[in-house]
Amino acid sequence: MVYRCLGCNVEYDIKELLYTCPACSQVLMIYDLAFNRLKEIPGDIWHQIFDYRKMLSTPALKGIYRYHEFIGPLVPLDSVVYLGEGHTPLIEANKNLQEKVGIKFYFKNDGQNPSASFKDRGMASAISYIHFLIQEGMISDVLTICASTGDTSAAAALYAAYLNPLIKSAVLLPNKKVTPQQLSQPLAHGASVFAIPGVFDDCMRIVETLSERYNVVLLNSKNAWRVLGQESYSYEISQDFEYELRNKVIVVPIGNAGNITAIMNGFLKFYETGIINTLPKILGIQSKHANPVVRYYHVTDPNKRKFVPISVRPSTAQAAMIGNPVSMPRVIHLVERYNATAGEQKVFFIDVTEQEIMDWNLTANNHGHIACTQGGESLAGLVYAINAGIVDKDETAIVDSTAHTIKFSGFQQMYFDNSFPSDYNITPNSEKINIPFILDSESEESLSTLDKPLTGEPLTKFVRNMALKIAKQLRLNKY
Ligand SMILES: *Cc1c(COP(=O)(O)O)cnc(C)c1O
Ligand SMILES: [Zn+2]
Repeated sequence: MVYRCLGCNVEYDIKELLYTCPACSQVLMIYDLAFNRLKEIPGDIWHQIFDYRKMLSTPALKGIYRYHEFIGPLVPLDSVVYLGEGHTPLIEANKNLQEKVGIKFYFKNDGQNPSASFKDRGMASAISYIHFLIQEGMISDVLTICASTGDTSAAAALYAAYLNPLIKSAVLLPNKKVTPQQLSQPLAHGASVFAIPGVFDDCMRIVETLSERYNVVLLNSKNAWRVLGQESYSYEISQDFEYELRNKVIVVPIGNAGNITAIMNGFLKFYETGIINTLPKILGIQSKHANPVVRYYHVTDPNKRKFVPISVRPSTAQAAMIGNPVSMPRVIHLVERYNATAGEQKVFFIDVTEQEIMDWNLTANNHGHIACTQGGESLAGLVYAINAGIVDKDETAIVDSTAHTIKFSGFQQMYFDNSFPSDYNITPNSEKINIPFILDSESEESLSTLDKPLTGEPLTKFVRNMALKIAKQLRLNKY
């Protein structure tokens, strides 16, 4: 395996901790120089290998390393750190919801990873590789560092803490621009947490400077090992659909663009080895408040496209609120390869409004799902794509809900309270609002306290009174 620079094509030794090209500063990708050996195994034998591994109880093969030969053949299985990541549930959407959206679709619940977002996939890969270097005696006293919109730091702190004391971690977050749940995660795992006055893009610049000048290990998706682990998402979808991806559409939100990079690369690798025979369509979705990738691709003439970083505005898809995605050169490179390999345009970019993000997020969860706001963003993008004729009625979509809804409950609360600051441009739809009924007691009634619970007649009266109010509110019929 080698790192290869996307700018000047120079290759570097994989046992160095490199994030960008020392010669031209461009981002790197990891390549397996002996990848062609994987093509010698027929696709249907690979199917049997992966399906057989599914039945084993070897921890290292339970997660992303089930696809060991594709993710990190360099990393021996006993260096693999497995915390339950990967193989997240693929859940067919509620029938009524499918009807509303207009096509058959599934959610892939990547919020059901250990730190409740897809970032665990990449972190398991990066940390297993670092673990390998430690075990080889190549590095020691590791301090990992990352900038985060919330979920990268949660995952980094979790995996680093698992290898405590071999690894310590520090994380940088934009102050007040991660949710309280996300902030609690690196704190719980003992990381040093720095809240930076600014936005994510500022935090990113700071960790880049730190990783250039000091002896730290960068865990952002600039680190190509992260991207490698996140390719598991594509491998799992392939296996989940028994390697038949005809008429399938993968919908993914874009922030720093590491995930869509990994998804394209993963499908390409499986296609080139004959494990899948069709490259699925891919929709990359952004909020109109943070849409630099969409703006780039909306210039139809490829020769006139020029990437321009933007200043972001507040977004409820906060984990994707990034104006200068680090993986943009990887995206440009891979979109071209993906479409060329497929022989037609297969990758599309769509932006959606904040209103659409919240409305679809709440609608999904109201139908028995656990979509995060980025999952709402993906779903809103799918609806747009269907209306725009980018996706047909006979196609089946897999919508990436990248985190657990619980991490973003504050946005739901703002919607229900109608308390969004005006720059979000969100007006709650009263039909979607759900708030608790606060039941009052009768004024003269005595109530339970912790040291003096009600008993006897007062308790009976209190319970009857409350039951009556609830029955009235729910319009219950008497037996
Ligand atoms: C990081 C993140 C994203 C954006 O993914 P990128 O790889 O940065 O494009 C989307 N959703 C959630 C929940 C995230 O944590
Ligand atoms: Zn270079």
